[in-house]
Parts: sequence; C-alpha cells; structure tokens
Amino acid sequence: MAHDILTAITAAVDRAEDPRVGPDGLNIVLATNRQASIDAANEVVRHETDSAAMPLAGIPIAVKDNIATLDTPTTCGSKILRDYISPYEATMITKLRAQGAVVVAKTNMDEFAMGSSTEHSSYGPTKNPLDPTRAPGGSSGGSAAAVAAGVVPIALGSETGGSVRQPAAFCGVVGVKPTYGRVSRFGLVAFGSSLDQIGVCATTVRHAAVATYATAGRDPRDATSADAPVPTYDDRPAQSATPLTGITIGRPVEYFPESLDAGVRARCDAALETFRSLGATIRDVSMPHTALAIPVYYIIAPAEASSNLARFDGVRYGPRKRGSGDLHSLYETTRSEGFGPEVQRRILIGTYVLSHGYYDAYYKKAQSVRTLIAQDFDAAFTSGIDVLFTPTTPTPAFKLGAVTDPYEMYLSDIFTVTANLAGVPAMSQPIGRVNGLPVGGQLIAKYFDEPTMFRVAAALEQALGEGAHR
Ligand code: GLN
Repeated sequence: MAHDILTAITAAVDRAEDPRVGPDGLNIVLATNRQASIDAANEVVRHETDSAAMPLAGIPIAVKDNIATLDTPTTCGSKILRDYISPYEATMITKLRAQGAVVVAKTNMDEFAMGSSTEHSSYGPTKNPLDPTRAPGGSSGGSAAAVAAGVVPIALGSETGGSVRQPAAFCGVVGVKPTYGRVSRFGLVAFGSSLDQIGVCATTVRHAAVATYATAGRDPRDATSADAPVPTYDDRPAQSATPLTGITIGRPVEYFPESLDAGVRARCDAALETFRSLGATIRDVSMPHTALAIPVYYIIAPAEASSNLARFDGVRYGPRKRGSGDLHSLYETTRSEGFGPEVQRRILIGTYVLSHGYYDAYYKKAQSVRTLIAQDFDAAFTSGIDVLFTPTTPTPAFKLGAVTDPYEMYLSDIFTVTANLAGVPAMSQPIGRVNGLPVGGQLIAKYFDEPTMFRVAAALEQALGEGAHR
C-alpha cells in the first residue's frame, strides 16, 4: 500500500512535469514541487492506518493558482503575484490533505479568474487537450485541462460566474459548483466575494461528489461558510432500470434559445430523453429573469472585484513600482504595470458602478434584479421540480483567439452565472460530442441539495457510459 501511494504520486508529478503539459506544450501547469509532493505522500503513508478516515489516500490533485498552497507560488495567473508564496494554505487544501490527497500541481487560469478561455493569463493561454487549437474554457481552464489530459483525476477550480462548469464542459470532464457556503472560501483569493466558491473538476461524478463532500462544512475562518450537515456520497450503482422514478426535471425554456448551437441542442435533447427512459418526469418551466443575468453579473462581480483587488497596490501585495515618487503614482504605476487589460477593465467598470451618482442606478438596481433571479429558482423548485437541466454553454469549445470582443466572451457564461447569483448548487457533466468536441449538460439543484444533483448526474453518467465525451 505504502509503495502504491508513493508510486502513484511520483507518477502524477512526472505527468505534471511532462513538457507536453508545461509552458511549451498545453501550458496547463504553472508550478510543481516534487519534493513537497513526495514528502506529503510519505506523510499519508505514515498516517494511513484507517483507510475509512482517509478516503482520498494517495489521490493526486491539481489546484488552480488562486487557491493558497504553502509549497508552491499562488500567482492568480497574474504577473503582479509572480513568485508570491502564501504564508497560509486554503482550508480546502488542509481538508483534502487530511483525507490523504496530495497536491502535485498548480494550474493556469485567467488572471484573477476573470475570463472564460484561460487566454487572459499573464503566463500565456492554456490549450484544450482534446483539440489544442481550441480554448479549454475558463477561468479554471488549467484545472479542467489537467483532468482531461489525465494528469490528475481531481482538480480544484474556482467559480464566480461559471469558471468550473464552463471549462469542464469544454474539456469533457465533470465540474461542480457547490451551494454558496457549502465549502470554505478561506485561502481562495477573492474576486467577487458574494459569488465566489471553490469547485471541483473530476473524471467522474463519483470523484467530484466525494471531493466536494470531503471538503464541505463550516469553517470558523470563513464567516459565509454554512453550518449545514455534510452528506456522504451514496455510490451504490443504481439497481433498478428506472432509478429516477419520482424525480421531476425542469427544462427552463430560456436556456434553449433559437440561437443555441444545433449540436449542443441535439445532445441536450438526447440527455432529456435518457432521463425520461430512467423514469424521470420532464417539465418545461419558465425563468423569466434569465436574460438579465449577464448584465447583473457584470455589475456585481466587477464592483466586488474593484474593492477586493485594492490590496494589490505595491504596498500590501505586489512588487512596488515607484513611479514619479508620490504615493498615488506608486499605486498607479504598480497597478498599471501589474494588471493585464481584462483585470483593468473590470476594476474600471466596478469603480464606475460604485461611484457616487451611479451607485443607485447600477449597483443597487443589480442587487434587486439578483433577488428576482433567485426567486425564479425558488418558484421552479417550489412548483415540484427537483433539478433543472440545461446546456452548460451555448457552443462547444471555441478556437483560441476567436473571441476578441469582451462582451462576446462574457456571453459564454450566459447559462452558468444564474446559479452563482442565486447561490444554488450546479454542475456540468459530459453528455456526448459534436464534431468531435465535448458538450456539457448542466444540472442545477435546490440550496444544499447536492445529494439529488449527484444522484441524477450519476444515473445519467451510468446510462451514457463514463466519459461520455470519449
Ligand atoms: N467568465 C466569468 C468572468 O469572467 C466568470 C469567471 C469566474 O467564474 N471566475 O467573470
């Protein structure tokens, strides 16, 4: 057993250090620390007396570079944090390590998690392992790609508006955003604090569920983490031919617009047919405020970002750039040299919508509409719907460099930001391919009802065959 764990971790570090996933290849991995990973594996071997207490013993994981780790830098994909080593680690990492997992790589991402393609990294774009001419999605593109490329079976990402689910869909893996508060945010570099969540990319629904529950629960160091009982994952395969009998799946009509890619629509229709054959009832439902989600998100997220990113000023964080000598010019020079164009755009938008005279017109109104979006979910769920099913993205993975208009890039989150705004749990799973590219299907569940979400996802996965994209 001891030998197995060491071998598994050494092999995973080898894969993470393979030039094909490094900067000259797919550019998935930003950092590794072989000695620290081997030491951690030995630590697991020493403590692994009771395997029930260590359900993840010897599982190598990769971690998005905005989640604090002790043995590797945490750069947020930004040159303003180049070589920055955090003095503490994220609670999620502590929990995963306590259960036997070993961090083997930090992964590439859009700078400060702002983006949908991993093209906005200061360290160059990540390529989609299934088609290197295409984007892996973002902002957790490195984590989704690390799973898709077989570097690790589980990787942590972060979500503010879809940054785990969208890249999971583009790379043909499972991606989960838990209920807001289900897992601790301590040690996740803040972007939009009322939206941010750490989430999991994984090869299978089971891996994703086990990792989600392993890291769930109240954390005294994150006041927004919830004191909700943590479920255990029931991984018995479905015995009946119709395991979803009694489950009602809602199909929100606003998520199936005319403009939806025909191939994506066809895969979603086929998934709905599979749900029916598994015993579920499918019901159309309307969520009228869906169209407002992108405008609302792109007010609230930049507003919170403009405040959260104020600390990167060359005094508290970031290399100090003196400018012309006074304090203001120190801030200005540090921030204009340190942040890339997308981050600067978000800070400008955020500062604008929070400024005197515009606060009520933009920020306050966006908060009211956010409530209406959450009420759409409440209404659907109280009408008897157990989970909603939608496409994760309007199209499969686009070509690297193809989306140059920022607004067009923002629209790739159109089906994912609603769950962040409402705080409900959601996930993406592979539901087949179109023209060789994976398509993701999204399930959205009630607050803290990850168990139903995983149960429905596992039934679909079992029916389609694991790795439905292959
Ligand atoms: N793509 C969205 C954005 O750019 C979402 C990012 C995220 O979820 N971190 O803001």
